Amino acid sequence: MTRIAIVGSGLAGLVAYATLRAGGVAADEISVYGDTADPAAAWRMRAEAIRQRQMRSESDGHPFPRTFPGLAVREAARTLDPAPLVLSLADRYRPSVSTFLDAVERVRERSGWDSSLEPRRVSLVTLCHKGFRVDDHGSFEHVLLALGHPGLAWPDDRDARYVHAYEPHAFARRVAVVGAGMAAATEWRNASADGAEVISVRRREPVLRPLNLPRPFFTKRGLDEYRRGDRAAFLEAFSTPSYPRELHRDVPVAREVPDDAEQVVCATGFLRGYAHDPVLARLVAEHDLPTAAGRIVLDDDSTIPELTDGTRTLAVAGVHAQWAFPAADTLAGMRWVAHRFLRRCRTR
Ligand SMILES: Cc1cc2nc3c(=O)[nH]c(=O)nc-3n(C[C@H](O)[C@H](O)[C@H](O)COP(=O)(O)OP(=O)(O)OC[C@H]3O[C@@H](n4cnc5c(N)ncnc54)[C@H](O)[C@@H]3O)c2cc1C
Repeated sequence: MTRIAIVGSGLAGLVAYATLRAGGVAADEISVYGDTADPAAAWRMRAEAIRQRQMRSESDGHPFPRTFPGLAVREAARTLDPAPLVLSLADRYRPSVSTFLDAVERVRERSGWDSSLEPRRVSLVTLCHKGFRVDDHGSFEHVLLALGHPGLAWPDDRDARYVHAYEPHAFARRVAVVGAGMAAATEWRNASADGAEVISVRRREPVLRPLNLPRPFFTKRGLDEYRRGDRAAFLEAFSTPSYPRELHRDVPVAREVPDDAEQVVCATGFLRGYAHDPVLARLVAEHDLPTAAGRIVLDDDSTIPELTDGTRTLAVAGVHAQWAFPAADTLAGMRWVAHRFLRRCRTR
């Protein structure tokens, strides 16, 4: 009997699915609802658009249900070259995108993902006496919402010259790049490499810092500290666009898009907050769920406390789960959420 639903068939959905399967949940107990069968489809399109070759994450940025062995150990074992391990010890290993995508494909195949996939978009998750109804596809005791970012963010005024960094694009000769984060820094380099004249459009100086959330926030102690503090303020500061020092490049800067720019690349990231996602917005409105700074206030195990009890679970993964775990939008964070969800599915 299908009793568990995962809504969203991206990377967070895959990590959750693989974790449930590794935890002993049968494939026919799980339905995955999503737009595409390929769990890397959304990610791949964005990574290809900015020509990402190496992962932003370290060895633990993988889709397997257990952290160890990570991609460094697997690559060292496959190639009989210890270099990935040595780099990883110094926190400097960045797996290639193809290494990562191979791992996604392996997890997809081995977990039985395709056998549980229902290729449909979900518009409504509602409370019912047995748990939750997912549109009219049946009721489920445990539901994980792994919906990803709710859309791309664009500047208010735009014209035909504007493209988004996370959508496929070639470069014109005179390119203005709006933004001051990782995608912007990558696009300065990409456009220059294609021979374009590049100008950076930004209102503030870039914040230079390593990509990953500092390791202490993955520990119990760090997490306790985060939870005791002002979560909204922390998440606001943590989500300020930034990039590592080694990606910095001196390009001319302007505060406004120059009139003579032939193309405007918007490295402006994603819309933020539950209100932009129709499924979450409806849940909040119908159940008057507590929110803070545009985020749903979650329990520490990433469940929505008002809709979760001893018999049912409504949990959230990915970027919308950052209230519970600040790095929830990384692969390591997706695994953290997935293990909490597994505990609820196994013990209820
Ligand atoms: C360019 C880029 C590079 C990144 N690199 C790394 C990295 O190196 N390491 C790392 O750890 N993280 C990285 N991340 C962060 C993170 O891993 C990705 O954002 C990842 O794609 C998030 O996975 P997700 O499943 O939450 O969302 P997505 O991959 O966007 O998947 C969500 C899926 O759910 C579907 N969906 C949404 N709503 C519904 C609905 N109502 N019904 C059915 N389906 C629905 C969507 O169509 C989509 O297929 C990167 C992000 C970006 C943008």
